[in-house]
Amino acid sequence: MSYAGVVPTPSPFEISVDLYSDTVSRPTAGMRAAMMDAPVGDEQKGEDPSTNELTELARQLLGKNAAVFLPSGTMCNQISYAIHCRPGDEILVDDTAHALHYEGGGPAALAGALLTPITADHGVFTAEELDKAIRPPGRHAPRSRLVSIEQTSNLGGGRCWTLDEITTVTDTAKGHGLQCHMDGARLLNAVVATGVSAREFCEPFDSVWLDLSKGLGAPFGAILAGDVDFIEEAWRLKQRWGGALRQSGIVAAAGTYALRHHVDRLADDHDHARALAEAISTHPRVSLDPARVQTNIVIFDLIGTRTSPADLADRLLRETGIRIGAFGPSTLRALTHLDVTSSDIHTAGKAICALLDVVE
Ligand SMILES: *Cc1c(COP(=O)(O)O)cnc(C)c1O
Repeated sequence: MSYAGVVPTPSPFEISVDLYSDTVSRPTAGMRAAMMDAPVGDEQKGEDPSTNELTELARQLLGKNAAVFLPSGTMCNQISYAIHCRPGDEILVDDTAHALHYEGGGPAALAGALLTPITADHGVFTAEELDKAIRPPGRHAPRSRLVSIEQTSNLGGGRCWTLDEITTVTDTAKGHGLQCHMDGARLLNAVVATGVSAREFCEPFDSVWLDLSKGLGAPFGAILAGDVDFIEEAWRLKQRWGGALRQSGIVAAAGTYALRHHVDRLADDHDHARALAEAISTHPRVSLDPARVQTNIVIFDLIGTRTSPADLADRLLRETGIRIGAFGPSTLRALTHLDVTSSDIHTAGKAICALLDVVE
């Protein structure tokens, strides 16, 4: 797969069903009401009650000693990497990792760290593969310092790490003296899909975060959690990098609302993703195993057509108003979220198949 997504320019077309990403989800009426009513203060002084409420709720959910609100998941990764690593250290990630492909080279620019990709199966690597990748101590090699995994794996098609996979990989990392970080952008999708609690998934990690702006529907924001010293350091970098906020309670209230009202319903998104996968996988020009769709991400490949994914996505948008993402020479991606109904999914499945019938 190539990781070059479509350049994010604003769409000139009317979008009827947006499956481009779960980040396109909009705040619901209930969420907007909670934002209107949020008590606020100066966040960086610790005086914003709504942000404090959110971080405490998320801290308990993730089972850590401390937590901090940050403007984005990207900042959670970058702050964590900079705390765990010194310049020249190495971070081991799966070969599709968001931090490797979509964070503007942040680990190199900000932590001075090297990201080494491990060839993985749908974003998940084994303890043996990690063990092979960790470098023995020595003067010549970079120091392997951190293992960073994604729950769920975004470019792995929303694949969940099982608790057993997490335990064996983090045990191996710790056996070599490495720290462990979880990019939990869609952690709660994994929780809903597997029935394993967030606390259990997070327990082996030194740092964890979850995104409020993906399928949870908040406008932006993420919660980073870890032990007290780690979060104290995170506050220093949040301040240094311009992420310390003022009346952030307006947005934090959306996050609290999302954690209270939008978690269980992620199961609907998973049903919708599976239904879309089933609908399009019957088409002879689609390569996709619907049984692999565990959460809200559907990644599929085109076969037996001269049409590129970018052209297909473009025509789909122009002709039907349905937007999906295109990656590289053969891959397309659709995500479900709280603004997508089962009737939207029905329409999208039909439209994708109809277009594939007529393209070259
Ligand atoms: C979206 C995403 C991020 C970045 O989160 P933002 O809040 O958009 O900065 C990081 N990791 C993964 C796996 C993601 O899907």
